Amino acid sequence: MTARIIDGNALSAEIRGQLAERAAALKAKGITPCLAAILVGEDPASAVYVRNKVAACEKAGMRSIKDVYADDVDPAVVFARIAELNADPSVHGILVQLPLPKHFDSEAVLESISPEKDVDGFHAENVGALMQGNPRFIPCTPYGVMKMLESANVPLKGAEVVIVGRSNIVGKPMAMLLLAKSCTVTICHSQSKDLAFHTRRADILVAAVGRAKMITGDMIKPGATVIDVGINRMTDGPNAGKLCGDVDFETAKEVAGVITPVPGGVGPMTITMLLTNTLEAAERCAK
Ligand code: NDP
Repeated sequence: MTARIIDGNALSAEIRGQLAERAAALKAKGITPCLAAILVGEDPASAVYVRNKVAACEKAGMRSIKDVYADDVDPAVVFARIAELNADPSVHGILVQLPLPKHFDSEAVLESISPEKDVDGFHAENVGALMQGNPRFIPCTPYGVMKMLESANVPLKGAEVVIVGRSNIVGKPMAMLLLAKSCTVTICHSQSKDLAFHTRRADILVAAVGRAKMITGDMIKPGATVIDVGINRMTDGPNAGKLCGDVDFETAKEVAGVITPVPGGVGPMTITMLLTNTLEAAERCAK
């Protein structure tokens, strides 16, 4: 049996169409949703992410501001710019692309963004609100995964969920969201013993590690839903240079019931949910 694929591009297109309609309705009231993105340094992957986010904004009828700083910029310059954007009522969402150069205190930068404009959902106040089950902004990647599960009608109540990866931006908020839906959640990480023992019990398996194809078909429960968050660039073989996930798609799709591909899975959904968060911030301003 071959798994049903959740097409992140198709679902994104559908949601972005709805967002464009909502953005147009706001514009008619004189409010144009606006996202400000700050990029520090020349990391090529970060530059591509920011470019894609800004382009997606414009396409959905929202405004964007992109500020790019050199790798060795004085952090005070970036803090001053964030303060300016915090105070600007025409800006509804602010994001700082991670990772930041080593001379930055990333946590302090994230905390300097107004919680009302923190569309990535990384500010401690927003993390706390999510933890309490009353989120203001849901971090975009796990938010996108929830939309994918919903679109595929994957049953959540009582489901055994195993998340591989415990980062603040993916693994931990993912666990909170699935717990809130009454899943039984296990979080695995680099020190977990016998990873396959855990993954094989999962009705829903979320891989968010950053290791190419580490989850193979034999680690998956037959019929499980497999969500691949990983984005890795293959280094050798005939596909060198191409993207792949943390899941070995070829073997996994023969065992899983539902699966997300890479590329074309969680990636486009992350940007879609960033647009959603920006629009919602603007809608809150309109009330
Ligand atoms: P991090 O590096 O912050 O976290 C990786 C996690 O994987 C850590 O918790 C680490 O454990 C765990 N880990 C590492 N090795 C193993 C192992 N052998 N077995 C089990 N767990 C392991 O990564 P992110 O969460 O930021 O990102 C994860 C992946 O998702 C990356 O490929 C990234 O590019 C991708 N990503 C994709 C997005 C999208 O839009 N699709 C958005 C964000 C990220 P420990 O904590 O013990 O070190």
